[in-house]
Amino acid sequence: MNFYSLNKQAPEVSFRDAVINGIAPDRGLYFPESITPLPDSFFENIEELSNQEIAFNAIHQFVSDEIPNEKLKEILVNVLDFEFPVVEIEDTIATLELFHGPTMAFKDVGARFMANCLGYFSEGESHKVTVLVATSGDTGGAVANGFLGVMGVKVVILYPSGKVSDIQERQLTTLGQNITALEVDGTFDDCQKMVKTAFLDEQLLSNMQLTSANSINVARWLPQLFYFLFAYKQAKSQGIEIVFSVPSGNFGNICAGMVAQRLGMPVKHFVAATNVNDTVPEFMKTGTYNPKPSTATISNAMDVGDPSNFIRIRHLFQDNFDTLSENLSSFTFSDEKTRFAMKAIYNDSKYIADPHGAVGYLGLKKYQEKHPNTYGIFLETAHPVKFLDVVEETIPEKLAIPPQIQKVMGKEKKSIHIAAYQELKDFLLQN
Ligand SMILES: *Cc1c(COP(=O)(O)O)cnc(C)c1O
Repeated sequence: MNFYSLNKQAPEVSFRDAVINGIAPDRGLYFPESITPLPDSFFENIEELSNQEIAFNAIHQFVSDEIPNEKLKEILVNVLDFEFPVVEIEDTIATLELFHGPTMAFKDVGARFMANCLGYFSEGESHKVTVLVATSGDTGGAVANGFLGVMGVKVVILYPSGKVSDIQERQLTTLGQNITALEVDGTFDDCQKMVKTAFLDEQLLSNMQLTSANSINVARWLPQLFYFLFAYKQAKSQGIEIVFSVPSGNFGNICAGMVAQRLGMPVKHFVAATNVNDTVPEFMKTGTYNPKPSTATISNAMDVGDPSNFIRIRHLFQDNFDTLSENLSSFTFSDEKTRFAMKAIYNDSKYIADPHGAVGYLGLKKYQEKHPNTYGIFLETAHPVKFLDVVEETIPEKLAIPPQIQKVMGKEKKSIHIAAYQELKDFLLQN
C-alpha cells in the first residue's frame, strides 16, 4: 500500500517511508491510497475475535507486507496488552475507557505502535532515527514510554517549563536511556515552533534522520481506529444505532474512527466535541474554516486552534460539506459547562470523568436531544488522576493514585534547559 501527500506535490511512498518521514517533503499529510472494506462477516462475528485479531485485520492492508505478518501480530500483542472497557453510565450512554495503558492516556496505543514500527524499520540500519516531539502534556509521556529502549531510535521531547502538570513532567523526564527531555523557557507554541524550524533546517536534515511522533505520523494516527472496533464489539448487542462522541483537539482520533467506518463498521454518525477552541464546530456551522490561536482551558490536551488532522477528514469526504454533515456533528463547550457535566455525571452515576471525557459526554447529550433512539459512547481519553487539581476541586472525592503513576512519583527528574532554537540545534548536532 502506498501513501500520497494531501498537498499532491510529493511522490507516493510506502508505509515504511511514510512512518520514517512523518510528513511529506511538500509539508502535506500522508493518506492511504485506498481503504478496502472488511468483509461483512468480520463485523457479524466480531464478538468472537480477540482485540489482537481485530487489530490485525484492520491494520494489515495499510502496513501490507512491509512488516511480516508474524512480526505485525507480535507488535499488536505488545501494544494491546491492556483493557478497553465500555462502561455504561446511563441507559443509552456509555463511556469507552482508553486510559488503562502505561501512561493512562489514550495516546499510549498510537505511540507504542509507532515505536514498534520504527524500531522494526531501524533494525540493521546504520543510521539512527531521531524522533523530535513537542508536547503540551500528554503526548510526551506516551511517546517517552512507548519508545523507551527501542534500539536505533533516539527521542527528544520539548516541553514548556512550568506549564505541564507534575505527573506529566515526571512521566517524560524520569525515564532516561534513549529519551531526553528538553525543558523550554517558553510556551507550548514556542516548543512547537522550534520543532517546526528543525524539520526545515537543511543543515540538521543532512546530518540526521528526523521524524515526528504526533498524530500527523500515520503509525500514530491509524492504530487509533482499533478503539472504535473494540467498542463496537462490546456495544453491538444493544441492538440500536451506535454513535461515538470524541473529545477532539487535533482530530486524529475521530478521523481514525471515520477510517473504521470506511472499513465497514456499521456506525453512521460521529460527534466531535471541543472546548472553546471551536474552529471545527464553526466550520460545521458556516462552511468556513477559520483557524485561530488556541485558548487555554481545563481540557488542555484539546487546546488547538488549527487542528492538523481535520484536512484528512475533509479529504475522506472529498471535501463535500453535505456528506460530511451527514456523518459528523460538532459542538463546543465552555469550561463552566465542562465542570457542570463532571458534577452531573458524578451525582447521577457516581462516575468520575476527566475534563476531556466530560466534553465528550456533553457532545453526546446534545446530539441525543435530537436523536434519542441511539446508543451513545463517549471516549474517556485520560484517567481523571492526570487532571487531579481540576477533578478534586470540581467533585467531592479524593482520587487514589494508580500504580502506573505511583511508579514515576519517586523518580528523579532529569531535563536540559533551553531557551532558543540554536540550543536545540546544538544539542541535536552534538548527540
Ligand atoms: C490528545 C488528547 C485529546 C485529543 O485527541 P486528538 O486526536 O488530538 O483530537 C483528547 N484528550 C486527551 C486526554 C488527549 O491527550
